[in-house]
Amino acid sequence: MTYVGRFAPSPSGPLHLGSVVAAAASYLDAKAHHGVWLVRIEDLDQGRSDPAIAQHILDTLAALGMTPDRPPTYQSRQQHRYRDAAAALRGQGLIYPCGCTRAQIREAAQTPGVYPGTCRDGLAQGRSGRSLRLRLEQPGDAFDDRFAGPQYSQSGQDYGDPTIVRADDSFAYILAGAVDDVLDGITDVVRGDDLLPTTSPQRLLLERLELTPPRYAHIPVLLGPDGRKLSKQNHAPAIDASEPLAVLRHALDALGLRPFLGRETFPQSVNGLWRAAICAWKDYLADRQATISR
Ligand code: GLU
Repeated sequence: MTYVGRFAPSPSGPLHLGSVVAAAASYLDAKAHHGVWLVRIEDLDQGRSDPAIAQHILDTLAALGMTPDRPPTYQSRQQHRYRDAAAALRGQGLIYPCGCTRAQIREAAQTPGVYPGTCRDGLAQGRSGRSLRLRLEQPGDAFDDRFAGPQYSQSGQDYGDPTIVRADDSFAYILAGAVDDVLDGITDVVRGDDLLPTTSPQRLLLERLELTPPRYAHIPVLLGPDGRKLSKQNHAPAIDASEPLAVLRHALDALGLRPFLGRETFPQSVNGLWRAAICAWKDYLADRQATISR
């Protein structure tokens, strides 16, 4: 089976070094497997998505030598996919309205960030439906992450019933991303490990739709000086694509590839750097897998 990988940025801000690291990891993995690499713009959140930023992201990737093998796709243009998936889940009686606000969930949660199932058996008194959630009936999940190793999780403890349709009526990331990965024929998802907690809910959702999830590899996300994930929310600076070599060196270093490149100085052209990095990635992965199985 041909390897198909992807990078799936949300166009709510320009690429920062953390997102370039995620893009580079998925690109390297696809190229090291002689695969196809795609870009999907995750622009369902109308309030936070900007078409100009989506274009800027694509231009920045191109300047860094990462050009997708097929035209990029936009989630806002394929809503029928998510509607069909939501309808199939509803048809199985797995969707229910939830009337909780974020603050109410925070207050009621036994485990921080985990929805405690408040509206699972009917809307709590005095509340009206805001969002729609998927009832996860499976007790838990287990899968092998190619980078992070074996993963085990329990529904209700590690994650709650995920939101499928948000309060503003848009389809939620968990549904849209999982469905797109399968319908786009993605064989391998390589992304930051901040998304590891959403992986089992995505896998369990796909299981209900009788769709086979892709393989996953979650790489460590880049942390800022304050120890928090570099992100648009905490104002990580946009990268300067006029210096592609400098940005790529930084990203490959952050990925931990420098020792595998086996040289102190990186090649002096974007193409040369990618060629070296693709070879280095194979050793890096083999080393990672040896560590996992030890
Ligand atoms: N759009 C998500 C983000 O920018 C990434 C989704 C994914 O890779 O599955 O964080």
